[in-house]
Amino acid sequence: MNVIDPFHDLNLRLTERKEQHQFRELKSVSSKSDAAHILVDDDRFINFSSNDYLGLSSHPALIKKSVEYANRYGVGSSSSRLISGTLKIHTDLEEQIASRYERERALLFNTGFQANSTILPAITFKRDLIIADKKCHNSILTGCLASSADFQRFRHNDLNHLEYLLKKAVQKNVKNIWIVSESLFSMDGDFAPIKELILLSKNYRSKLYIDDAHSFGVYGKTGLGLVEEEKEIDVIISTFGKAGGSFGAFVVSNSTIIDSLINYSSGFIYTTALPPPILGAISAGFEIIPQLNDERNKLSETSSYLKNQLGLIGKDTGVSESHIIPVIIGNDEDTLALSKTLLGHHILGVAVRPPTVAEGEGRIRLSLTTAHTKDHIDKLTRVLDES
Ligand SMILES: *Cc1c(COP(=O)(O)O)cnc(C)c1O
Repeated sequence: MNVIDPFHDLNLRLTERKEQHQFRELKSVSSKSDAAHILVDDDRFINFSSNDYLGLSSHPALIKKSVEYANRYGVGSSSSRLISGTLKIHTDLEEQIASRYERERALLFNTGFQANSTILPAITFKRDLIIADKKCHNSILTGCLASSADFQRFRHNDLNHLEYLLKKAVQKNVKNIWIVSESLFSMDGDFAPIKELILLSKNYRSKLYIDDAHSFGVYGKTGLGLVEEEKEIDVIISTFGKAGGSFGAFVVSNSTIIDSLINYSSGFIYTTALPPPILGAISAGFEIIPQLNDERNKLSETSSYLKNQLGLIGKDTGVSESHIIPVIIGNDEDTLALSKTLLGHHILGVAVRPPTVAEGEGRIRLSLTTAHTKDHIDKLTRVLDES
C-alpha cells in the first residue's frame, strides 16, 4: 500500500533546502559566561555572534531592577496595553524615552519585529507609497507588504535611485510618500546616509522612517544611536534586545503618529503588554547607556582592529564601518564549512545564508561586544588565516 505523507509538500521543500545547504536548525547553549563567551555543554566558545554589544544583558544593575520590578509588580502584565495592562512603569518609561530623544511621544512595542511589521500598515493609506532600502530587515519588509500602500525598493544606499523613484511618485501625485531605511544595516554593518535621506525627504515632501536597532546604545553622543542628533526623522524605531541588553522595542515620533499606533497598530493593540521584569531591565539599561562612552570608544577601537586584521589576511569584509563585520565567503557550502572549522577551534561565528542575505553572499557575520579583547580577535584571525 502506498503511504501518502500528508505533509509531502512541506517535506519536499525542507529536503530541497537541505540540498542547497540553506537548512536552518536551532542549537541551544547552556549559558553565557560573559558577552564574549558562550557555554555549550561544558565547552566554552568565544562568541562572535552576539548582539549584546555593551554586555548589558548580564549587568548587575539590569538584573537588580528586573528582580525588584518582579517582586513589586509581579512577572506578568496581565493584559494588553489598552485593556488593563498599562502600568505606570510603562508610561513613565515612555515619557523618559520621549524626553531623552526630545520628541513629543514614545511608545513601547513588545519586539522590533512587531513594531516594524505593524507600524507601517497603521500609518499608511491605500494611495500612499512606501519606498524602502533593498537591504531592510525582514520585519520592515513584512510591514511594507502588509500595508495597503504601494511598495517599492531602492537599491541599497543608492540615493540616485531613491531620488528617481521619488521624482516619479511626485509626478504621479502620490499622496503620502514614506522613505524607509535602517541606520546601521544588520548584515553588512554599513551606515545609511541619514542626512541625505532627510534632505531628500524634505525636497520630495516625503516622510522618513528609520530603524536604529543595531546602533542604539553604540552610537550617538549619549548612546541614543545614529539618530540622536537628527530631529527631522519622522519615525524612529529602536530595540532593547541588542545593545540594550534586554528585550522590547520603542517608537519615537509625534503625537499624531503615536495616537495612530495606539488606535490602529495591531501589533501594539492585540498583544499582552511587556512584563514588569523586562521593564525593569529596560529602564536600568536606558539609565546606564549615557554613561558608557568609554565602552563605546573601546568597541569602536576593537572593531577597527578586527577589520584591519581581516584585511591583512585578505578577507572580504564588504562595506562594514561598524562593530558588525561580515567575512563574505559567497557559496553556502563553504560558508557552513568555515563556521564548522571555527567551532572546532572554540569560536562561534554563525553562517548567514540566503534568504537572509542575497544569493552568493553567504557570510560569517561577526559582531563585537565590549567584552572582546585583542587576544580574542588575534585567535580568530589566526584560525581564519589557516583555514
Ligand atoms: C533585530 C532587528 C529587529 C527586530 O527586533 P526584535 O526586538 O529582536 O524583534 C528589527 N529591525 C532590525 C534592523 C533588527 O536588526
